[in-house]
Amino acid sequence: MTYANIILPLPLEGFFTYGVPDALASRVTAGVRVSVPLGKSKTYVGIVAGYPVNIPNPSEESIVGGKKITYKNIIDVLDNAPVLLPQQLKLWHWIADYYMSPIGDVYKAALPSGLKEECGYRPRTELYIRLADNFRHDRTLTLMIDSMKRAAKQVEVLMAYLQLAGVDEMGGITPDTVLREVTREELMNVTHTSVAVVRALQDRKILVTYEKEVGRLNDGEPPHPENMKPLNDAQTEAYNHVLLQMMGHPVTLLHGVTSSGKTEIYIHLIQKALNEHKQVLYLLPEIALTVQITERLKAVFGSRLGIYHSKYSDAERVEIWQKQLSATPYDVILGARSAVFLPFHRLGLVIIDEEHEQSFKQQDPAPRYHARSAAIVLARMYPGAKTLLGTATPSMESYYNAKQGKYGLVELTRRYKNIQLPAIEVVDIKDLYRRKMMTGPFSPRLLSAVREALGRGEQAILFQNRRGFAPMVECRQCGWVPKCPDCDVSLTHHKNMNYLSCHYCGYTMKVPEVCPCCESNDIRGRGYGTEKIEDEVRNIFPDARIARMDLDTTRTRNAYERLINDFSQGRSNLLIGTQMISKGLDFDKVSVVGILNADSMLNYPDFRAYEQSFMMMSQVSGRAGRKGRQGLVILQTKSPELPVIQQVMRNDYQSFYSDLLTERREFHYPPFHRLVYVYLKHRDENTVNTAGLELGSRLREIFGTRVLGPDKPSVARVKTLNIRKIMLKLENGIDYPRVRQYLRSALDAMLKDKRYGALQVYYDVDPL
Ligand code: ADP
Ligand code: ZN
Ligand code: ZN
Repeated sequence: MTYANIILPLPLEGFFTYGVPDALASRVTAGVRVSVPLGKSKTYVGIVAGYPVNIPNPSEESIVGGKKITYKNIIDVLDNAPVLLPQQLKLWHWIADYYMSPIGDVYKAALPSGLKEECGYRPRTELYIRLADNFRHDRTLTLMIDSMKRAAKQVEVLMAYLQLAGVDEMGGITPDTVLREVTREELMNVTHTSVAVVRALQDRKILVTYEKEVGRLNDGEPPHPENMKPLNDAQTEAYNHVLLQMMGHPVTLLHGVTSSGKTEIYIHLIQKALNEHKQVLYLLPEIALTVQITERLKAVFGSRLGIYHSKYSDAERVEIWQKQLSATPYDVILGARSAVFLPFHRLGLVIIDEEHEQSFKQQDPAPRYHARSAAIVLARMYPGAKTLLGTATPSMESYYNAKQGKYGLVELTRRYKNIQLPAIEVVDIKDLYRRKMMTGPFSPRLLSAVREALGRGEQAILFQNRRGFAPMVECRQCGWVPKCPDCDVSLTHHKNMNYLSCHYCGYTMKVPEVCPCCESNDIRGRGYGTEKIEDEVRNIFPDARIARMDLDTTRTRNAYERLINDFSQGRSNLLIGTQMISKGLDFDKVSVVGILNADSMLNYPDFRAYEQSFMMMSQVSGRAGRKGRQGLVILQTKSPELPVIQQVMRNDYQSFYSDLLTERREFHYPPFHRLVYVYLKHRDENTVNTAGLELGSRLREIFGTRVLGPDKPSVARVKTLNIRKIMLKLENGIDYPRVRQYLRSALDAMLKDKRYGALQVYYDVDPL
């Protein structure tokens, strides 16, 4: 008997070892899927991580850690060739190690569901019809038709079929191979008949049906490299500079102001990689963005371009996965975070656009990986492959790496065609609120700017941060605010449907008619979410064509496309949105952008609040400005004197960066220190408290002052579980693999205590 290590889609550390029956042995290899038994009655689809492997005592029974264990056997091998190439398997291992998450969780995140179940993915089939063998000959067919005089409709359908398939153009015997295939659907459409007529022809055994697999993928137009736009001088210089930097660095950062034409540079780099028979992975932080960039890439790369993200159906994702394994994969993959897991045979270039974006990091559930880091690691596994990070506002980490010479650096400081950067006007709303001059959340200056823009036939964008004051309801008598019974947060008000929901666990309830505390019926909304803003804007600008883009309005892939296309084509002229709209969307009739409340971002209790605010404000501002006219940004804040506001106003990334760097150095934050958060969760508050204190002191024994906490996070209870957080600040250059070992052993030692049986512990490495 031989043995294999298997990865199962379960949140458990390490591999599961199974016996491999001799009959299956020849088909078992790393990366193939196998079905295996687990427990009394379950079977799972596992992935072979290693084969053959040595086990401590090579018999069917082994002693592991003093316990006698019996290895079960693999039931079946599901693939003839691996669904993971060696690089993908290596990436899984890296993510599991680096982010300290079970490899089973990586498996769950990486593979489309259809590949995780034995009979999950079903190829789509269509029903086709053809002539029965007996009627392949002209003469038999003519005789048959003569005998059918009374079934006129059937004759008509039969004739239509013969015509569609091309039979009537051929005398004599008609071999299948020269006939055009006809679907039943098509025949019914052409003849305007019901399925009954076709069935009657089947009953007479003249027509037969058969099923055929059809792909879900749309192969698109042939590529048109001639559609590439020629680069201007500044772009050409940047392009050459990127190539030069890439020779000396695995990773290069392209720091170019918004609308400097970075995307056009990417397109030229992609074409170059394709000329060298390499594949390209192009990652974007947000599905909304893929919609816009898709059009630009399709025009050049046509059917060589594949798109992959979570709004695609699972079946489509399985087909793309299989296509990437085939001999004719897409050469360019455009996708969001999860596309980093797709198999590539000959990856040559990875582009990470808007590299500073937080949504590249998966927050929940595990694995809490950063797609930028994962993509860099992936690229390094392919000989000669390079990574390009692009952004107008580099993350502190990337800019620091570039300044240190670890990454190549290319800067592009002018907008394409020298279109001016927008003018940014700061409006002090503290003062305006005091003088009662605000209309809801809008200053008079913002309203007049929007009114003028719409009057000139231009467009405007209003930006409200999601982290901003969530809309909730409140009793005006006693101040009661409905909270989630299972989490430490107030419920968010969805006015259109008049219900309340928890954004952490999904709990919903109707808005109560009377206050449960004081029985008053004066329960009203409070705060300004995007939905509320939409309402107010409708009152103020009744003629505006308003669109809203946030989590609630973009649940489906089509919703994204529709919203963006409507706005691009002017069917809507006033767009309200969350940070979703800040990311690189390119609209050319937007002349005014309003940032409703900068403070909600700045006051967020996190060391990244300033970094995030600067980026968000700069990015949103970048949406303003149309060809031939300078754009205008109205930035509303209660703290106009803050340096960061001034830096946004002057578009002064350099002072922003150096101010923040000083602070980060002083307080031991990234990029000088790496952070690891350890989260503990338990139903019982006392247990989680003691556990936190105990783990904290165990970790202090090893790591000393690098350990902070335990603390209560700002949302300290989610889905009935109480949470504590311990922070580790690890200096650069520390032996990180050993740190992970120590962390694990400290935890293992503690979990031996029976009281902590139900304690959940997980890590967030490089948290955002
Ligand atoms: P960025 O990615 O830096 O924000 P884009 O690549 O989206 O900038 O360019 C901004 C606008 O300028 C786009 O509409 C783009 O089509 C146009 N543009 C940029 N470079 C060129 C070029 N070389 N030729 C024609 N149009 C260009
Ligand atoms: Zn009340
Ligand atoms: Zn909840």
